[in-house]
Amino acid sequence: MENISLLRPNRFVIDLQVIGENALALRKLAPPRVKFFATIKADAYGFGLIPVARTVLAAGADALSVVRLEDAAALREAGIRCPILLYAGQVLGPEQVGAIEAYDLWPAVHHRHALEALDRYLTRPIDCALKIECGQERLGVQAEEAETFSAAMLATGKLRIKVVHTHPHVEGDASHLQWQFDRFERAWKAVASQTPGAVPIAVFAGTKALSMRPDMMLTGIDPGQALFRLPASLAPVDRPPTPFHSLTSKLIHVYEVKRSEFVAQSLVPTTAGSRIGIIPIGYGDGLTRLHAGDVLVHGRRARVITPLSVEYTRIDLTSVPSAQIGDEVTIVGGQDDALISPDEVMAHTGVPRVTDLVIPLGPAVPRQYLPYQPHLSTLRPSSMAATQ
Ligand SMILES: *Cc1c(COP(=O)(O)O)cnc(C)c1O
Repeated sequence: MENISLLRPNRFVIDLQVIGENALALRKLAPPRVKFFATIKADAYGFGLIPVARTVLAAGADALSVVRLEDAAALREAGIRCPILLYAGQVLGPEQVGAIEAYDLWPAVHHRHALEALDRYLTRPIDCALKIECGQERLGVQAEEAETFSAAMLATGKLRIKVVHTHPHVEGDASHLQWQFDRFERAWKAVASQTPGAVPIAVFAGTKALSMRPDMMLTGIDPGQALFRLPASLAPVDRPPTPFHSLTSKLIHVYEVKRSEFVAQSLVPTTAGSRIGIIPIGYGDGLTRLHAGDVLVHGRRARVITPLSVEYTRIDLTSVPSAQIGDEVTIVGGQDDALISPDEVMAHTGVPRVTDLVIPLGPAVPRQYLPYQPHLSTLRPSSMAATQ
């Protein structure tokens, strides 16, 4: 629905300045010869595909990567012309291959099935990526088979290998990462030996690898999480900011609890003077792990009553007797002098990363954006040039 005033009064406000500055910090970390693929899968981890795409490109990303074909299509339809790496997420048939061709995407070829489908249905040669599996045990051609596989890709005459990439599993000590890096680097070199004059971009490091071993960036990087909070090792400050500015709703119902029977079965406190408020956002919106146990009303804390309903959440307004229908309820963010930070929510729910808070937040909660203003950035592109 286009008319925002007809949507429920819930608002997720995203600060694009933080995303822009994070992208700029990553751009600064990666010298110009290193291609920066900004990974914005899953609707930019819930922060919103198109605004995030425009921001990271303005901050110096060279390319984007996504999993959903419809996300890639939406980027193109929004007029975004940079290379788009399409990670595997489809069973490729004629329609999917047709869309890859029409939207000029670089599909990641991760299996012989994908290779054969592309060979069968492509009507012209395209740029693509070869996905290597080197330790995550998810998608890709086993590193040791990369040479044979890339030979088969090239033999089609339709697949130009622009990128060789992987997504390592960063767990355990540094030797586990090194093992994956070594497998990947050998695979990349084997592929490159077959493409003289056009060495594919080698993309190994996402957020975690970059935070542990920035020297593993080879000739490309593809961080995602880091766009939304820089890892401490890459950030200039102790608690790096997040673009999660606020999540708010409005009271649609307020009443005083009158009940004196079946008190034990009541979901809400039944002591005299108990007041309850209802906001129209609930677990169907992904709120279960996205609140801190309290919300803010009139700058004061009010307790969230669990369990949540699909579309509603009850709030104990006993301590805010002046609260009325239409008043703003801040689930995350500041109100008057009070604050519920994303970190407080993460501590309350045991969710480790800000993206894990936002990914479950449903698409029916409208996103609003604070703009990215590159000239206000503390990390100007000119300071970037100075370090290169
Ligand atoms: C998600 C993903 C990335 C980015 O990972 P982050 O940990 O978010 O930086 C990179 N490559 C692939 C294949 C991915 O699926």
